[in-house]
Amino acid sequence: MSAKQSHVFPRNCHADLPVAVGGEGCYLIDTEGKRYFDGSGGAAVSCLGHSNERVREAVKRQVDQLAFAHTGFFTSEPAEALADLLATNAPGDLDRVYFVSGGSEAVESAIKLARQYHVERGEPQRRHLIARRQSYHGNTLGALSAGGNAWRRQQFAPLLVEMSHIAPCYEYAERPEDESPEDYGRRVADELETEIQRLGPDSVMAFIAEPVVGATLGAVPAVPGYFKRVREICDRHGVLLILDEVMCGMGRTGHLFACEAEGIAPDILCIAKGLGAGYQPIGAMLCSAPVYDAIANGSGFFQHGHTYVGHPVAAAAGLAVLRELLDHDLPAQVRARGDYLQSALEARFGQHPHIGDIRGRGLFRGLEFVADRTTKTPFDPARSVAGKLKKAAMAEGLICYPMPGTRDGKAGDHLLLAPPFIASEADLDEMIERLSRAIDAVL
Ligand code: PLP
Repeated sequence: MSAKQSHVFPRNCHADLPVAVGGEGCYLIDTEGKRYFDGSGGAAVSCLGHSNERVREAVKRQVDQLAFAHTGFFTSEPAEALADLLATNAPGDLDRVYFVSGGSEAVESAIKLARQYHVERGEPQRRHLIARRQSYHGNTLGALSAGGNAWRRQQFAPLLVEMSHIAPCYEYAERPEDESPEDYGRRVADELETEIQRLGPDSVMAFIAEPVVGATLGAVPAVPGYFKRVREICDRHGVLLILDEVMCGMGRTGHLFACEAEGIAPDILCIAKGLGAGYQPIGAMLCSAPVYDAIANGSGFFQHGHTYVGHPVAAAAGLAVLRELLDHDLPAQVRARGDYLQSALEARFGQHPHIGDIRGRGLFRGLEFVADRTTKTPFDPARSVAGKLKKAAMAEGLICYPMPGTRDGKAGDHLLLAPPFIASEADLDEMIERLSRAIDAVL
């Protein structure tokens, strides 16, 4: 633990955090030499572990060759190459890539691009963005406005842009027993159409959702058919579909892009965390040819931008990460390891009286903790277990991502697991051992 007075402004002013000094494969190491299995890749970031040689070398090479060239004056080789490789492998006709420094910036850029697209096409009245409750799209004001997590929004509410929030597709908690998954998916997707009609179809610019909900719900995929219907509804009304794959993209769910499993492509796609894999801060917004063309053939100028867009060193890291994913077909490995992890979690925790659901895709898994698993009753918010589980896990040398309940005022605590793609089955067993000891210490 840190002994001397710190001048860093941490997120939690009362946390006494260990000092990380090293990273080796799936492990982080602190000053005491304690090794932590990175079971959540921080927040689903470190998909290649902490010592990938190809990415480290690419970063070093790029710093030595060219550290920075402002994109108002130059493009750069790594940014061009990374955009090419992303566009070549992206679903649908997503063939233009706009680089940013992280997830919130990707979402801000997507919201502004959606707005400018409609303005350029002569529909300036389209200004409404529809999002979902219990979602997270980032912490900047636009992205926070889109997010539907009451706790994160609360104190900033007066600063937020008004946006609509419809129901998420959250089968475990919200599908009645007498409704089939198909009917449930159709019903919640149709909330989008109802909201578009309520706002006036000509006034809606876009709908944003995570294909697999990460931080707020804990690796919750939609039921089959939900996103196909969402796509149809958007198309019917000229509403752009923005998919936020900041957390679930870049191979995390066993597909390079999570929406591939849904058989649809969005008009705008946001990625970040796994793109830089923690080696550099980088995110991106991909958009379809028609969206790009509306700007290119209109004003020709996207009214947006940050100093560090397309940073050459960050792009070089992203390029090396993507090459690692593609050259070793890591998404396929993630699918196989993900199946193993799901089975192993079910075997260990499937009957636990306080674990109501174990879910997810690929190496993106969530455990939902409940007071009563028969009735699915969440813990009382005052007795939230998420923070205690994080602390107990750290003591056991395990990093996992906790989140207190978000079911609109009710507590549905969960833990998110997003281990590195390089984890072997034995590594995953080790992670589960540590997790099991942490859970035993709390519940
Ligand atoms: N969107 C999603 C789905 C996220 O999970 C996050 C971060 O957790 C963000 C956006 C914001 O990304 P960042 O923290 O890089 O700004």
